[in-house]
Amino acid sequence: MIGKRKGWIPVLNRALDFVFTSFCPICDGRVFKDGYSYVCQECLDTLAWVHGVRCKLCGIPMAGMDFQGLTCSGCREENLLFDQGRCLFVLEERARRLIHDIKYHGARIILRDMPSWLDRSEGFREYLEGTVLVPVPLHRRRLGSRGFNQSEWIAHAFRKAVGPSVEVVHGLKRKKNTPTQTKLDRSQRKENVKNAFALTRKNHLRKEDRIMLIDDVFTTGATLNACAEVLREEGFSQVSIATLGHG
Ligand SMILES: [Zn+2]
Ligand SMILES: [Zn+2]
Repeated sequence: MIGKRKGWIPVLNRALDFVFTSFCPICDGRVFKDGYSYVCQECLDTLAWVHGVRCKLCGIPMAGMDFQGLTCSGCREENLLFDQGRCLFVLEERARRLIHDIKYHGARIILRDMPSWLDRSEGFREYLEGTVLVPVPLHRRRLGSRGFNQSEWIAHAFRKAVGPSVEVVHGLKRKKNTPTQTKLDRSQRKENVKNAFALTRKNHLRKEDRIMLIDDVFTTGATLNACAEVLREEGFSQVSIATLGHG
């Protein structure tokens, strides 16, 4: 009888392993969930987390002396209408896989790691504190076909990780169902999102709010800037942006 029971223990352990482990969305390796760990430690350690000197407007890391108002060449080419911006990591191959899993495979669960992600980019948590997070909206037709808006998921993950000083307001809508920006160059991107956004009718935003526009990635800033333009025109004086990746 005892022997039989012993025989079940390894089987039971394997079953428990299966329940309490998952597979890393980046390297497909096994991840033992202790606290926050949907992505394996090794992959997290190798992502290009942003800390130190960075562009004031998009958050990309920069070499050299830090001073207020330091902006990268990409941002200097644009007339960016937001006050400041930050991203958590630079998009290289591993980070792209991560974003891809969230955006195209609906892997929202990965965002549960957000508290530990925020700890990896110094000052990011403080940057979000006391702000009103406004996700970049999808057109209702795109939302219908995808079933979710990853920017909303990211905004809610930020709010959960930072705490009650932060709120999420779905204050913007996309009027034009614009084609995806992925294959467009800088000027085409700008043209593509021109007049694409508007405030939602009952948006509960107050003019004195510190607005933080949220998107998954910052590429040229065209989409975020089109959103910022709407808010500026409506009289909002504090508009900043935050994204997961840059690239
Ligand atoms: Zn991994
Ligand atoms: Zn920049």
